[in-house]
Amino acid sequence: SEYRRVLEENRKLYNQVQDLKGNIRVYCRVRPFLGGHSNRPSTVDRIDDGSMSIVSPSKYSKEGRKSFSFNKVFGPSATQGEVFSDTQSLIRSVLDGYNVCIFAYGQTGSGKTYTMSGPTELTEETLGVNYRALSDLFVLSQERKHTICYDISVQMLEIYNDQIRDLLATDSTNRRLEVRNSSQNGINVPEASLIPVSSTSDVLNLMNIGQNNRAVCSTAMNDRSSRSHSCLTVHVQGRDLTSGAILRGCMHLVDLAGSERVDKSEVIGDRLKEAQHINKSLSALGDVISSLAQKNAHVPYRNSKLTQLLQDSLGGQAKTLMFVHISPEPEALGETLSTLKFAERVSTVELGAARVNK
Ligand code: ADP
Repeated sequence: SEYRRVLEENRKLYNQVQDLKGNIRVYCRVRPFLGGHSNRPSTVDRIDDGSMSIVSPSKYSKEGRKSFSFNKVFGPSATQGEVFSDTQSLIRSVLDGYNVCIFAYGQTGSGKTYTMSGPTELTEETLGVNYRALSDLFVLSQERKHTICYDISVQMLEIYNDQIRDLLATDSTNRRLEVRNSSQNGINVPEASLIPVSSTSDVLNLMNIGQNNRAVCSTAMNDRSSRSHSCLTVHVQGRDLTSGAILRGCMHLVDLAGSERVDKSEVIGDRLKEAQHINKSLSALGDVISSLAQKNAHVPYRNSKLTQLLQDSLGGQAKTLMFVHISPEPEALGETLSTLKFAERVSTVELGAARVNK
């Protein structure tokens, strides 16, 4: 029966991988109310596997309802483990030589960092996608060690105001790094630290270093982390022990800058510049993914550092997963709707009956 279970598990994973081929998936996650406010009215009033509807709590009328469909919708009670379980097949494909991008999108406070890294006080249950993904890669690469020998290494980068910075640099210089898409070994920011990892404790250490490096800047510039993109890139190189053939896969785990619109009349100077860079790079990302989803001949990768950095891992054989995050509070309704609009734009889900009310 153990054998049957393994067979069944493999069949399930195989189907998931087939399902993901050449695809862009969009999962929506709704954050729970924080601080014991769970009895407040939520803007999300129905979640049904891949669809959800949003209401304006001030007027519970039919006209006020908008429905959206995605590959999957996770409600406020979904656990980190449940959210990750639908991502596992994607992670496995990195060991087969695919490139993968996983994004967290949403307004500040909607739960992007919670999904990718977990909360500040981590427990086994609350570990985020980043840790779980690497931990899975280690387990799977061990399982294959008699046929393929894998080397796994990571980079951690931050993109702030369209400039790339190395979050694992030991000297705290603010050197600007450049993207070189033509590199032979698939490492397109060759000047950034590339650290070999072989255990989950290595990964936790590096994640701490990266987080601290981000924090150093945020005290100087008031919560900079929500206004920059952070990217944990995992490079995997496998050598087939019989033929000596080399395969390479790479995975970008990206916690994007907050997507909220900043009122241009209210900010000036640095803050305005930041807002413009964020807008520009998030729209560039939306343009790239939606032109891939529509199978356009021209994909506008060159319009931001973010899309240049991820070029090799968006489109072609690569697989993309976008987690869009929304907050349940009525005050967030405007941002929630614009987040869901963005998500629809990058999604390939067919228009379904669920959306006739829109
Ligand atoms: P963002 O990265 O989008 O700015 P955070 O991940 O920092 O948002 O989340 C904001 C707050 O909400 C944090 O205190 C975080 O721990 C909490 N939070 C977010 N998502 C969840 C969740 N699914 N369950 C419990 N708490 C959450």
